[in-house]
Amino acid sequence: MESYEIDIPRIVKWVLDEKVDKVLVQAPDGIKPHLKELLDSLSKITSAYISGSHTWGGCDIALQEADALGVKHIIHIGHHGPVRVRIPRDFKVLFVPAFAKVEIVDVLEGEIEKLRDYTPVGLLASLQHINRLNDIKKSLEEKGYKVLIGAGNLPYSGQIIGCDVSAAASIADKVNCFLVVAGGFFHGLGVYLKTGIKTFILDPYAGRIIDIEPIAKRIMARHLYNLSKALDAENFGVIISIKPGQYAMGKALEIRRKIEQHGRRAYLIVLDEITPENLENLAFLDAYVNTACPRLNIDNEDVFKKPIIGIGEIDYVLHGEIEKYDFHKALQIL
Ligand code: SF4
Repeated sequence: MESYEIDIPRIVKWVLDEKVDKVLVQAPDGIKPHLKELLDSLSKITSAYISGSHTWGGCDIALQEADALGVKHIIHIGHHGPVRVRIPRDFKVLFVPAFAKVEIVDVLEGEIEKLRDYTPVGLLASLQHINRLNDIKKSLEEKGYKVLIGAGNLPYSGQIIGCDVSAAASIADKVNCFLVVAGGFFHGLGVYLKTGIKTFILDPYAGRIIDIEPIAKRIMARHLYNLSKALDAENFGVIISIKPGQYAMGKALEIRRKIEQHGRRAYLIVLDEITPENLENLAFLDAYVNTACPRLNIDNEDVFKKPIIGIGEIDYVLHGEIEKYDFHKALQIL
């Protein structure tokens, strides 16, 4: 089983310094199995609750759960900080990264041949692997590659999240490919969709370097097909998430106005977790417009039974101009 490096002494010090009498701990599902040591340490000094809900990103801070518990202190594991959230003044949130303990350099060296034609390489990573970026850079340079690490909106050089790949954009005109250190396709796909530049994933769990381009092209084709199905929609469900960093009521109202100006109907749907099951009962809807996480309408599209489109895509659909559609601009990834 994979494991993580979590700075427990830092968390304990914060709890003691803040004189916290009760605290809510939240973490992504993949990290939850590794929280026992932290929770055992916390239970000696405070009353600790674990959020059993999903924790998708720094946008998804468990303020409502904390409020229901009368808890003012949240320990948020696995993300660097708030994403599009202004934390209310009466709450305090400690963000603590969880760095994966997994072999990476050996995987790189075993698969490095796949990068042969693509120097200079733009190096990027999810937060879980960001502490290994310099080791990977050194290894690439020893093999003769030129390596660049960009800086964007996020705190660590080379760091990306699903909705912010600005570290990639900052060096896009200077590299021949990106190498994204992350488990799964999610982070690399965001880089490719935003930049259109050849992107490889160094997935330490799969033990491989994977070219994301063919996968991304399939996803893009599926998305264009769904956009074209939405052209005929009469009844749109405009999805509003109550997650603090995904809540976009102003955008939702603007989109409803646009849809109605085009003689179609729009219904506002409020949700915490946006799942097909939660939407399917509204059977009279023909398509959804997602104002929440911008990755939802591209990554999970195949699980929704109706077309799901994003904020930046509604104009293409309402004007029937799919031929002008531009992935790099429309997907609202920074
Ligand atoms: S990609 Fe989605 S889930 Fe992740 S931080 Fe951005 S809005 Fe949140």
